[in-house]
Amino acid sequence: MAKEEFSLKPRLYDGIVVLDDANKVVGQTRGAIQSLSDMPIEDGAERLEKLLAEPQVQAVIAEAKAKGESQTVELLPEWWPERTVAVTALREGNQTILSVHDWTHIYKLGSMQQDFVANVSHELRTPLTAIRMAAESLQMGAMRDDRMRAKFLNNIQGEADRLTRLVNELLTVANLMGRPVLHMSRFELQGLADEVESTLLHHAKLANVNLVIKCPEDMPAIEADRDRLQQVLINLVDNAIKFTPASGAVTLDVSPNDDGRTVLCKVIDSGIGIPPIDLPRIFERFYRVDKARSRVTGGVGLGLSIVKDIIEAHHGKIVVTSEVNKGTTFNITLPIKQPAGEPAVV
Ligand code: ATP
Ligand code: MG
Repeated sequence: MAKEEFSLKPRLYDGIVVLDDANKVVGQTRGAIQSLSDMPIEDGAERLEKLLAEPQVQAVIAEAKAKGESQTVELLPEWWPERTVAVTALREGNQTILSVHDWTHIYKLGSMQQDFVANVSHELRTPLTAIRMAAESLQMGAMRDDRMRAKFLNNIQGEADRLTRLVNELLTVANLMGRPVLHMSRFELQGLADEVESTLLHHAKLANVNLVIKCPEDMPAIEADRDRLQQVLINLVDNAIKFTPASGAVTLDVSPNDDGRTVLCKVIDSGIGIPPIDLPRIFERFYRVDKARSRVTGGVGLGLSIVKDIIEAHHGKIVVTSEVNKGTTFNITLPIKQPAGEPAVV
């Protein structure tokens, strides 16, 4: 989710075009051209001409001439697809001042929020429906059959667990949005790697996956939010076990980098892999390669988005490579020391 802050009102200091009485451009700020340019900046001057020729903009200018000030109009110009440009006019003496803004990012943010709410509602509705159906089946007679009763109660418990996990993940997502609060400390990665192993060893054994942890004893201590980093490694190793068929292997390999400033954490599996078309999207919230399979694995598709937010909050990087039916590797690079001046909340 975007972390910028927006002001919905056009700000008068950037994106200004001055017109004379005959509506000819007599001046403009750099911001006006930038508002109408793509990155890297291409010529926005041509777009400015097209903008001024728009009937809606002409109407705004006429309104300012008549009343001193106009309403703000929003245009979806044909000459600049998928963009929203906002224009307001103000009369100053015998000149008209236009405020020009690209509001595309505001609309994008709005639609991202709508998608997020729609996804959350969908994810909540699915287990709730399953719980209601199981309860109805019990009421309608399954209660009297020992086997059926056990089955439906089991379903209710499983779906309630799923709801709990979803709500916990949503709380983490909400916390990581904007500026996450990190509780920094210095600690040894070896202890952390051991904890990840003991948390997931039983799980790996049940899945008949060989879990290997590699972490040299002379690893430098790292400055990070220990709980958050543990969450990252558990999410990645848990995924690796989940998406690796029986008799496969999962390795967590932690090592210092040659630059002396960063460490590398690799999570390698010999699992089902991720198709190239899905690979760029797996860090998006709620994205799952195979939604049907996720019903079985119980995932909601938030784990990797949380992982990425945490790594980036630590000024680190995460990169994934994968080959279908061969396996997946996640490489995390983390600085040993956080840059000075960053908030370290304890
Ligand atoms: P959650 O983590 O929220 O419980 P999840 O595990 O399905 O659910 P993510 O961890 O965000 O969600 O992963 C997103 C998707 O990326 C997964 O559903 C899966 O399709 C794919 N994926 C992630 N890790 C691997 C992996 N090691 N091997 C193959 N596919 C993977
Ligand atoms: Mg996951």
